Amino acid sequence: MDDFDLVVLGAGAAGMMGALAAAQRGLRVLLVDPHMDHPNNLAISGGLFPGAGSALQIQAGVTDSPDRWLADLRAFAGDSVNERIAASVAQALPEVVDFLTRGMNAPIHFLPDVVSTGHHQCRFHSTLPASGAALHQCLRQPIQGHELIHLCPRPVTVAPVGTGFEGTDDTSRWRAPHVMLAGGGFGAHPTWVAQHIPAMRGALYNGADYNDGSTIALGLDWGGQLWGMDGFQGQGHTNPGGRTRLGMAIPALGGILVNQLGQRFVREDIGPSALAPWVMAQPGGVALEVFDSHIEAGMTQHSAYQAALQAGQVMRADDVPTLAALAGVDPMGLQATLSAVQDMARGQATDPLGRTQFARSLNAPYLASWVTGALSHTQGGLVTDGDGRLLNAQDLWVRGVWAAGGCAAGLSGRGAEGYLPGNGLAQSFGLAWRMAQALGSPGA
Ligand SMILES: Cc1cc2nc3c(=O)[nH]c(=O)nc-3n(C[C@H](O)[C@H](O)[C@H](O)COP(=O)(O)OP(=O)(O)OC[C@H]3O[C@@H](n4cnc5c(N)ncnc54)[C@H](O)[C@@H]3O)c2cc1C
Repeated sequence: MDDFDLVVLGAGAAGMMGALAAAQRGLRVLLVDPHMDHPNNLAISGGLFPGAGSALQIQAGVTDSPDRWLADLRAFAGDSVNERIAASVAQALPEVVDFLTRGMNAPIHFLPDVVSTGHHQCRFHSTLPASGAALHQCLRQPIQGHELIHLCPRPVTVAPVGTGFEGTDDTSRWRAPHVMLAGGGFGAHPTWVAQHIPAMRGALYNGADYNDGSTIALGLDWGGQLWGMDGFQGQGHTNPGGRTRLGMAIPALGGILVNQLGQRFVREDIGPSALAPWVMAQPGGVALEVFDSHIEAGMTQHSAYQAALQAGQVMRADDVPTLAALAGVDPMGLQATLSAVQDMARGQATDPLGRTQFARSLNAPYLASWVTGALSHTQGGLVTDGDGRLLNAQDLWVRGVWAAGGCAAGLSGRGAEGYLPGNGLAQSFGLAWRMAQALGSPGA
């Protein structure tokens, strides 16, 4: 029988952060993931996470703080904010950035030019270029061969025994006083999606295959409760088929969305998540994202856009009729829309859809790409406190059990609109970090 201090179920954003941070506190960790070599949501993601008040952000001369991020989250998501965890995640994020850069020597940078809906300050961090796959590698690499982290790439069974937990993978047995649930959300569980998020029943899903809710089910079996199950991260900039996406930056740089009639239908700056249902409601469930070469020049560090470009998803044209013909949208409609947008961008007209910032007037040569709405990641899950302790229906700790990432209740809920960009990784890293600090404290 092997003894560990902590068993982590899931080696994604939350699980790897939890394992590394716990090992840094001197704890012996068993990290279990039967799909270790399959892309998880961290690897698929854009890799952008907020760190308001990080040393890197301060060095860049940006005035920000955890409280300002919290204020933005509350302004954006209103009463759907998960107040049980929001403040402690806010405080944790600058420490997470510091841990990754100084503790792990990870090549993480502050990104001074990534603007986003709902964030009143540039506060995203990532690799350069921003990439979930590269961020995944930053965490996976120090885990390989770590003297305090033992990897188990096989399915396990685990059960409470006495005051701790015992488990097996059929080749070995182990025990530990603490278990962290970190198997991701339930986006790959169509029945649960239909039950909890009926608007996304049968929708394109562009997240990881093994986010099937298995660790949510385990937490429920052990006495946990659920919160915010209708919350999700949508993606309204996904290319049809779901293999590539444009990323969230184009509207903030001045891009627009039109339907097959060449008409706008939404203020494009509501955020990539909230856009998804709007795009899905258009004829054919698609929209044409229209921008120009000036905007594209600002996308060199956006790996998602570069992947879409490489995949041949971006059309180019020297004038509007050619673009309309290439895309197969109504040329008169598109011309009228672009003229109207030009007036709005110059301050000569008001947008009937309510958008106030257009960043710039679009000019030839024009670029465009078809997009649809997708479900990327679910945000509802097991209720925890701000350190990731699993809470039962009486709000008492299910002793020894922790949860973070997609299997735990997210930072905010309410459909797609409550998802502030960066919330997914913020909660995954923040709660996992807090868990490790609590576990590493005397008397834990
Ligand atoms: C297309 C897309 C783009 C995104 N972009 C961003 C972004 O730019 N910024 C942001 O903040 N968020 C983004 N997200 C969300 C972000 O990826 C997730 O919030 C985050 O990865 C969740 O971390 P996790 O550890 O819960 O899940 P994952 O990273 O998916 O890891 C879960 C792991 O658990 C394993 N597992 C599953 N079940 C079990 C089990 N029973 N036992 C053991 N292991 C198990 C899986 O194999 C997987 O490796 C994006 C998501 C998608 C899909």
